[in-house]
Amino acid sequence: MKSQGNEKLITRLADTAARGTLSHAYIVWGPENSDKEGLALSLAATMVCTGSQGRPCGNCRNCVKAFKNIHPDIITVEKQPDKREIYVDQIRWIISDASVLPNEADKKVYIIYQADSMNVRAQNAFLKLLEEPPSYCSFILTGTNPGSFLITIRSRCVELHAVPGKSTDNYEATDSNVYEIAGHIFDCFIKKDKLSLISEISKAEKLDKNHFPDLIDNLYMIAARALKTEQNKTERMRIYKALELLQSFTPMRSVNVGAGHIAGMLAVKLNSF
Ligand SMILES: [Zn+2]
Repeated sequence: MKSQGNEKLITRLADTAARGTLSHAYIVWGPENSDKEGLALSLAATMVCTGSQGRPCGNCRNCVKAFKNIHPDIITVEKQPDKREIYVDQIRWIISDASVLPNEADKKVYIIYQADSMNVRAQNAFLKLLEEPPSYCSFILTGTNPGSFLITIRSRCVELHAVPGKSTDNYEATDSNVYEIAGHIFDCFIKKDKLSLISEISKAEKLDKNHFPDLIDNLYMIAARALKTEQNKTERMRIYKALELLQSFTPMRSVNVGAGHIAGMLAVKLNSF
């Protein structure tokens, strides 16, 4: 029932659920070999679980149906097998389905698998739903590349970074390292400590090719979180510019632009905001 490697996240979500502060929208992202689907399902079960503690309890009627993939209020949408994208029609179907009250649970949860393959029209349609959802609706998007989402979608979602199962050697150590470096970079940016920012980014540059995109994603996640709580207008504008910059790196992944080049741009631009 539990997603391998993602136990810490699931525990954290159980705490959030216990406090009654689960978000209505999540992006679950991670590399190909991470169990995003398992984590998304576990989160959906947490959302509909009627257990009094330790949600998902795994025992209540909602949990049992959720984990058997037969809960009528957990609705999954994915890319059609012969298609490269998720199309706007699939999102329109969700919008119309969302206007119908849940059957058995208090909530209706939509899981969109490979949501990073939604094309722009689909994303725009989805954004409208995300902005004004029916009160009983929650959304979980999964994907490998959160940079593919519109900033306006990302800023409305809580991001969860799924990690590969424990069998993958050393991944967790490196993974937390990436998160830590991203945190340091963002701190320097907020404090306008230009020299330390450059030195932190040069550390990041030494990450291997596979972890550098992760660093950018982590940095985005940290900045998006900061934007949610920052009150000062000037600071908000700076953070927003940083988010736009990070987002602009997305197309470079597919053409394999080197980490050094992106790191250089990151240092120069962040120090100019
Ligand atoms: Zn339950």
